[in-house]
Amino acid sequence: NVSSAERMASHQMQRFQFVVVGGGIAGVTCVEQLASDFPSAEVGLITAASHIKAVANFKQVSQTLEEFDVEERPPSVLQEKYPNVTVFQSAVRSLQADQHTLQTEDGRSVGYEKLCICSGARPKLLTQDQPYVLGVRDTDSVQEFQKRLSSAKRIVVVGNGGIALELVFEVRGCEVVWAVKDKAIGNTFFDAGAAQFLIPSLEAQRPPRDAVCKRARYTTEQGGDRRRPGSGSTGAGSALGPDWHEGFLLRGAEQVRRQAQPSKGQLMVSPTVGAWPVYVRLTNGRTVGCDFIVSATGVVPNTDAFLQGNNFSLAEDGGLRVDDHMMTSERDVYAAGDVCSACWEPSALWQQMRLWTQARQMGWFAGRCMAADVLTQPIELDFCFELFAHITKFFNYKVVILGKFNAQGLGADHELLVRCTKGQEYVKVVLRGGKMVGAVLVGETDLEETFENLILNQMDLTPYKDELLNPNIDIEDYFD
Ligand code: FAD
Repeated sequence: NVSSAERMASHQMQRFQFVVVGGGIAGVTCVEQLASDFPSAEVGLITAASHIKAVANFKQVSQTLEEFDVEERPPSVLQEKYPNVTVFQSAVRSLQADQHTLQTEDGRSVGYEKLCICSGARPKLLTQDQPYVLGVRDTDSVQEFQKRLSSAKRIVVVGNGGIALELVFEVRGCEVVWAVKDKAIGNTFFDAGAAQFLIPSLEAQRPPRDAVCKRARYTTEQGGDRRRPGSGSTGAGSALGPDWHEGFLLRGAEQVRRQAQPSKGQLMVSPTVGAWPVYVRLTNGRTVGCDFIVSATGVVPNTDAFLQGNNFSLAEDGGLRVDDHMMTSERDVYAAGDVCSACWEPSALWQQMRLWTQARQMGWFAGRCMAADVLTQPIELDFCFELFAHITKFFNYKVVILGKFNAQGLGADHELLVRCTKGQEYVKVVLRGGKMVGAVLVGETDLEETFENLILNQMDLTPYKDELLNPNIDIEDYFD
């Protein structure tokens, strides 16, 4: 069933010095880095989605914290800016790493000298092929979610990361049962204390939201279907990022008060009996009927198209293992963003989390490493991998998380200092051996730069411990 255009394309091998797969934030950043470093080199970008993701309004908030918006743009924008870039809109079907070639779904053969795989990740679904279980990943899947929600009376949200947190907070006019297997909500980012601080926001009645988003970050063509012909709603699109729910009215069928019920347990889809389309059985013994289930239990790296016939080392989480040059175990193949697993010996204050910021940093650093390798120049791991730093918003609060914010990997060898003002701020500091190794700042605390410095310079804070979180002391002044 191959069209003549495909047959023609398959006869020609197009060769590039650099090829990047994936038009998400990691891939686009990598392409931009390579195209500007090597204006005379041919750079190919192969991406399954019809639009690319670009970083806009980049702001370096502090040494390690960065903020930016993400815009969906047509690929032509990239080609206009960098004449040496060619974008192919098709998924990669297979890779022959030993021959340095790739095949695309639309029948092309592409050769490369250096390749960077930035194919992202897809939602880990509780069960496959269950029409009542949805994953949220890209614009299409949010639209599907929105459509189903408009006639729903009750949904079950499973998962405890950032996406589940946002969903539970944003959905209106529909009862939400939130199945959380951890001791506290938002376990990926917070501890029980921060969760306690945030719970009143969930229970509060909020004013109705404008139906029209004031600042749409994700531009979609009005009324048009941007999906590739024949593509499903999962897999092909880029992952959404901060404010993904903006521009989507997440409203259910009922004018009821939203009831989020954090409930402990894991979910098993049980046979459909009774009044609801689907029932879930929780490990706490409850059976809950609902219109559908949102599975927000993490992601699986998109590696399938690249594995057959090659020798990639995979990490436990299924990502392509990369070293401190973003290099995979295959020669001349690099990887960045959600698809990869950082397997270098990390700094004591950094960990990989599949986040927007790290996708940008890894894509940029991969581009620099590819360039350095071509020029046979040495390159050190970048400073951005020194300290984990993330800035975001949950429940309308500014949230800054730094270093080992949840005492990850510290065992009992740590001490916590906490300051909490109800409805205003929550500040947590993680100390090890008297030195600050992590922090969670919720609200307008204005402490991020000072704490970042204290974490980076590893000053012994033992003498100041009692004053560190004293609200009457200007801490910035104190350590100036
Ligand atoms: P993606 O953005 O997923 O891009 C992958 C690209 O690869 C896509 O263009 C896709 O079309 C392409 N592709 C895939 N397979 C192939 C193939 N075989 N051939 C060709 N192309 C292929 N992060 C934050 O920091 N803050 C947040 O608030 C936040 N919220 C989120 C909310 C949601 C609902 C989701 C799903 C994620 C959120 N994230 C957030 C995570 C963030 O979006 C991701 O970490 C980030 O987008 C990863 O970027 P990436 O470039 O690695 O992958």
